[in-house]
Amino acid sequence: MNAFDVIIAGCGPAGATAGFILARQGLSTAMIDQHCFPRPKLCGGLLPLKTTELLHRVFEERIDTLAEKGIINYTSHGYQIYLLKDLLVNKTTDLPFSFVDRSDYDQFLLEKARSQGVALFQDERVTAVDPVEGDLWTSTGKRFKARFIIGADGINSVVRRCFPEDKVKRKTWSANKAAALEVYIPRSCLQRNIDQPQVHLGYVDWGYAWVFPNRDSIIVGIGGLSRKNHKNINQLFLDFMAGLNFTAPADSDGELKLHGHPIPYGNMLTRPVHRNVVLTGDAAGLADPITGEGIYYAHRSSEMAALSILRTVKTGAPLEETCLKLMQRHVFPELRRAKLLRILVFGALKRLPAAMTKRLVLWGDRKALHVIHGLRGYTLKARVKGGRHEDCP
Ligand SMILES: Cc1cc2nc3c(=O)[nH]c(=O)nc-3n(C[C@H](O)[C@H](O)[C@H](O)COP(=O)(O)OP(=O)(O)OC[C@H]3O[C@@H](n4cnc5c(N)ncnc54)[C@H](O)[C@@H]3O)c2cc1C
Repeated sequence: MNAFDVIIAGCGPAGATAGFILARQGLSTAMIDQHCFPRPKLCGGLLPLKTTELLHRVFEERIDTLAEKGIINYTSHGYQIYLLKDLLVNKTTDLPFSFVDRSDYDQFLLEKARSQGVALFQDERVTAVDPVEGDLWTSTGKRFKARFIIGADGINSVVRRCFPEDKVKRKTWSANKAAALEVYIPRSCLQRNIDQPQVHLGYVDWGYAWVFPNRDSIIVGIGGLSRKNHKNINQLFLDFMAGLNFTAPADSDGELKLHGHPIPYGNMLTRPVHRNVVLTGDAAGLADPITGEGIYYAHRSSEMAALSILRTVKTGAPLEETCLKLMQRHVFPELRRAKLLRILVFGALKRLPAAMTKRLVLWGDRKALHVIHGLRGYTLKARVKGGRHEDCP
């Protein structure tokens, strides 16, 4: 049997953050993933300033060194917002948008965790967890034992299955997922240059479509709350693509090479701790219910989980109470506000005539930019506590 202080299921941004912090503090830590890294991960790869600043604070990696190392592979100071075919906003900003390839990004962060002494188990699927005994089993028949388990195993988390119904209302959980599709188009296939991120409104209800630039390709995607979209998401995506005039890569049958993955979209678990098991990132439903942005919340929630485990080890403080306090202060408030605000935002997009929607977008675009980068919260007036430089609690 493999015994550790902490076992982390999942080696995405959430898992790597917890692994890095805990191993650096001397806890024996294992990380397990069903894939061998580097592995592909469907994502737009957009990092706003609040994320790059967290990377600096936690991993000591600055935005410029990440760019030098090729982890940030594209930076844009411009952005565009469209309502169907209408270009509503075409602006530049001094707040840069950074783009990463998730395969490289996740591998880079995993290596950071490994450099602190994490024991890594790849190609092992976690199949079951016993929260009472602290046991965890994998697909190769291995049994692991730990005092603490972190479920950072993404939206279809296996670790989450050991949580009782009062902590994971499973019906509500499923009803609040967004379906998302993406296609990667090599720059060599483009007839025009795409050098800034584009957001496209009006193609999908309770969601949006996007075109994000990367160094060697562009990422075209669409995502929307499944229960609000009765039309097939594939068809919505094809309608969107048709209007863009891009030649996308096709498979041998001439079909578009589409890739799909769900996004937690308003199903945040407010009690993601059960005994000594903590869920973080997508496994706990922690993505922004308006933008779908989840990388920041994966890092931040795992940071809180790791700090609570360290406090529990040092002081004997109860894990659940400690972790909930930190999450309630540093993770949940913005997600809660976004969920409330989106009723207005998506309601207005659906119901208002185009002219009013345009005025609303023009009124709100600067504010939205500041919210996305973490310069202010969803209350719009108040700056996020401590500005964007959120300190370690
Ligand atoms: C199409 C799309 C576009 C997106 N664009 C953006 C964006 O531009 N910016 C942004 O901030 N967010 C974006 N997101 C959201 C973002 O990708 C996620 O919120 C983020 O990846 C969550 O990180 P995580 O570590 O919690 O989970 P993941 O990144 O999903 O990592 C989970 C890991 O767990 C492993 N795993 C799963 N099950 C098991 C198991 N049973 N046993 C062992 N290992 C397991 C997986 O292999 C994976 O490596 C996007 C999502 C989608 C679908």
